[in-house]
Amino acid sequence: ENRFAGKVAIVTGAASGIGYAIARRLVQEGASVLAADLNMERLEIIQGELGERFIGVKANVTVENDVEEMVGAAVKQFGKLDLAINVAGASRAGVITELSEKDWDFTVDLCMKGVFLSMKHEAIEIAKHGGGAIVNVASLNSQVPMYAGSAYASAKAGVEMLTKNGALEMARNGIRVNAILPGLIDTPLTAELLSNADIKEAYMERIPMKRAAQPEEMTGPALFLASEDAGYVSGSSLIVDGAWATT
Ligand code: NAD
Repeated sequence: ENRFAGKVAIVTGAASGIGYAIARRLVQEGASVLAADLNMERLEIIQGELGERFIGVKANVTVENDVEEMVGAAVKQFGKLDLAINVAGASRAGVITELSEKDWDFTVDLCMKGVFLSMKHEAIEIAKHGGGAIVNVASLNSQVPMYAGSAYASAKAGVEMLTKNGALEMARNGIRVNAILPGLIDTPLTAELLSNADIKEAYMERIPMKRAAQPEEMTGPALFLASEDAGYVSGSSLIVDGAWATT
């Protein structure tokens, strides 16, 4: 398929896991991808693998100047911006009574402010070219609390609301804004968790499909929301969780 031929997309957090899978599929389906991450070493390796329609830049999504430069690089390299998939995220865990202010700030800054700053500068640019689409990666934990994950779950709830607010404000500029809410995905982020047999079993008991997803399984839902097939979909949250939320 060549659904995204001629389209220019930004993918944040593209050096690993879900972001990498989404960036790779966008390139396979014809898009040019400006990939942003802190891990430039990985981005350079991926660039070698995916060719000239994938360009990596170092950007910290919690720093506004970096985000502006990221968007500027997309325009410089590929001439415009149509799509953005905001994936960068991570979590520092701790029950509320033990969570430090530093760990709260780190998590909320990365997961929530990072999406705000990205959306802000992406939307300014996308509007100049007649519109497009933004997809934010939130989490099932946007809607379901996570033990010792209050900063993460709160920030991801914020991402879901930022998505709806973006949809409300940006419709007039022809920009659709949606979110995917992944459940448990097998990536470096969850590798340590899943390497503990007891923790893994506890998860499997709660997930009706009895398995974690592969990061590639996030690409269909994310690219659907970015595509013209979702032309009337905006402000939506698409849960991709192996039926976990039903339990
Ligand atoms: P990952 O750790 O494999 O990839 C995250 C990427 O984000 C890394 O390459 C990292 O370098 C990058 N990153 C971190 N901080 C950054 C910053 N400040 N600026 C730019 N890039 C930064 O993780 P993943 O599992 O692929 O997760 C991707 C997204 O999906 C995250 O937002 C995560 O919260 C969300 N998510 C993951 C799961 C899961 O089970 N893995 C579930 C729900 C939601």
